[in-house]
Amino acid sequence: MSWEWQEPQQVWIREVSPRDGLQAEKVIVATGDKIALVNQLTRAGVPRIEVASFVSPQWLPQMADAEQVMAGIDRRPGVVYSVLVPNPLGAERALATHPDEMTVFVSASETHNHKNVHRSIAESLKGFADICTMAKPHGVTISAVIVTAFGCPYEGVVPLPHVLELAGRLRDLGIHELALGDTVGVANPRQVAQVVQAFHQAWPDMPLALHFHDTRGTALPNLLAAVGSGASRFETALGGIGGSPFSPGAGGNLSTEDTVYCLQEMEIDTGIDLDQLLAASRFLVATLGHDVPSKVLHAGGKMIPVNAQTP
Ligand code: ZN
Repeated sequence: MSWEWQEPQQVWIREVSPRDGLQAEKVIVATGDKIALVNQLTRAGVPRIEVASFVSPQWLPQMADAEQVMAGIDRRPGVVYSVLVPNPLGAERALATHPDEMTVFVSASETHNHKNVHRSIAESLKGFADICTMAKPHGVTISAVIVTAFGCPYEGVVPLPHVLELAGRLRDLGIHELALGDTVGVANPRQVAQVVQAFHQAWPDMPLALHFHDTRGTALPNLLAAVGSGASRFETALGGIGGSPFSPGAGGNLSTEDTVYCLQEMEIDTGIDLDQLLAASRFLVATLGHDVPSKVLHAGGKMIPVNAQTP
């Protein structure tokens, strides 16, 4: 493939640790700590935060306090606070908490969609149409994540034309933004560049976000391949926490600290203060009571002067 590097000047990060991250934890984090985490992320300048999930508490007890968390956070004007909704029932609960945005999700493969949400892709899309109708009078935007977009743990390779076709169907429903998820961490940088370029060509008016998991250490290389292809929206998680209980072999999300550090060093603006982000990350580690995969959290954000390095 021929590839002309064309990075954006600014990158928008949607922080997903309060939802994607905490839902994968064995322990249930206290409501007050979730609120404190979101507030620290806001203070660090994170422009978009996925605060909670309105999945049934029966399925996901970690997110049972979604209403309380949404009610407790300090909202900064301009920051987009989003929530995940699995179906119209979840959307009804979510809308009562006045989110700026609701996120829906569908798998690129039928098998994964059945395992994840117990319905076909067509049934999921039908629910999204209802959610779009419900959200409109509230002025709430809808973003859709296509999970397993780069490969499925059950079906293997997911053909790109299939992903583009599914993206087109979501676009027709009135979805405002699409995110492609590498749920089990099997994407490679060349594939990412090809997918981003094909997507921009097929749907130039549709904002595209990317969501990488670092199961095999390829998340940051994949993000850079996407950045070099002109992508400017990413979903990352503080500390690199996360994973999916319904995706065998899924590792943590790409760490927000590592992403922000790397982009800042490349002089690509994220609007995020790395020192405050690292403070939030230390709070997260203390709250969870275990270490997290982030590299920059451990190494620190400041470059070491050359003459201070030891061999
Ligand atoms: Zn994720």
